[in-house]
Amino acid sequence: MLKIDYTLCRAGSMNNYSYIITDTETNISAVIDPSEAQPIMEKCNKLGIKPQYILNTHHHFDHTDGNIELAKKYNAKIVCNKADKHRIEGAEIFIEDGQTFSLGDSVARIIDVSAHTQGHILYYFEKDKTLFTGDTLFNLCIGGIFEGTPKQMFEALLKIKSLPDDVLFYPGHEYTFSAANFAYRHNQGNENIIKYLNKAKSNLETLHHVFPVSLGEEKLCNPYLQANSLEEFINL
Ligand code: ZN
Ligand code: FE
Repeated sequence: MLKIDYTLCRAGSMNNYSYIITDTETNISAVIDPSEAQPIMEKCNKLGIKPQYILNTHHHFDHTDGNIELAKKYNAKIVCNKADKHRIEGAEIFIEDGQTFSLGDSVARIIDVSAHTQGHILYYFEKDKTLFTGDTLFNLCIGGIFEGTPKQMFEALLKIKSLPDDVLFYPGHEYTFSAANFAYRHNQGNENIIKYLNKAKSNLETLHHVFPVSLGEEKLCNPYLQANSLEEFINL
């Protein structure tokens, strides 16, 4: 089983989520997208966790800035897409689309979703119904297209949409309420969006985060997942 903890980094500005995941059978842990070292070390300390791996979804600084310091402190290995080898400093383990990465007994399938950046990957723990989406899928919106084309992003989202509805996803940022207005307008008269926003609001109040939302719920409300063709997607 996978246990998931998190830290909110760059709170109030970029609101990055860095996740600390642990395979409960073997007690092996990893940090996903360490945005800043300090708050993650504090959290690991509190939890008594010494991560052995650092998993990156893509090369942007707000997902990798904590890499080196954490790797040094815990003697952890940095894992990234082979395509990012030249631009993620200190990385030692390289993975590619279709391969798996094993965190103890928990296995992640690597899905290439190049669009936000070339070489952006998702970590999909199929048995645990858990998907880490980095800057590709957020609650009610998606990441900007910095290095790819709209067609690539549309195809990336098709890959996500092909995964089962009961998979829970964990985004790289907390952007729900900056995306809510557009999603609400796009879904006028659709009661699913009301349900979604009510749940998001109460999660934020009680848990201080919105995740995890199921892909099924997301498909019903996220305008970018609702687009059925590239043309519809481009015209959003
Ligand atoms: Zn990014
Ligand atoms: Fe980011």
